[in-house]
Amino acid sequence: MAIALGANLPSPAGPPLATLQAARPLLAELLADLEPGVVAPPSTRPCSGLRWSPLFRTAPVGGPAGQPDYLNAVVLVNPTHPPTAAAALALLADLQALEQRFARERREHWGPRSLDLDLLWWGELRSRNEVLTLPHPRLLERAFVLAPLAAIDAQLTPPGARATATQLLTQLRHTSPEPPPTRLPGQPGWPE
Ligand code: ADP
Ligand code: MG
Repeated sequence: MAIALGANLPSPAGPPLATLQAARPLLAELLADLEPGVVAPPSTRPCSGLRWSPLFRTAPVGGPAGQPDYLNAVVLVNPTHPPTAAAALALLADLQALEQRFARERREHWGPRSLDLDLLWWGELRSRNEVLTLPHPRLLERAFVLAPLAAIDAQLTPPGARATATQLLTQLRHTSPEPPPTRLPGQPGWPE
């Protein structure tokens, strides 16, 4: 399982970096329920199975002038739950509830999300409807998803791909005019 995080607008927690730093433990908490070896109470769970990517900064291309940069990351999860459609919909609802916690007021006025959480894939589960499409339909075309994936595991081949995230990223660099995401150094609350 993989989940993509993105932010390019302030949230009640602050600028995108503060949003992602604040969202991380909350996301870890809800993902801990899916992970093996849960014996400790929620506040003390180590969530050791989660693999967080570094943060990446991506300059917006197109769209309104002056749009702030995006910050993106990916977390890889090793769930024990079998990937059922019902469990995936429940997780999507949890992710959307977390997005709402960081939603800026009058969100429609601002357009882009102050926090975007996308389920990229869950095992071999396939889903093809508007509410939930798995694997995520734009997963293989987005440098800001591929770069974090490749940073976690250079050999990782995303579902539906015939190449590793690293190779896909290299191909994108040759075919896309967009500047590649740049990796941020480790931050407080985001050590990777
Ligand atoms: P995007 O992430 O594509 O920029 P949104 O975050 O606004 O756009 O999501 C729009 C809709 O996409 C959501 O209402 C959600 O139901 C749907 N959706 C479909 N597949 C997925 C997925 N794999 N992960 C997250 N949302 C999804
Ligand atoms: Mg989304």
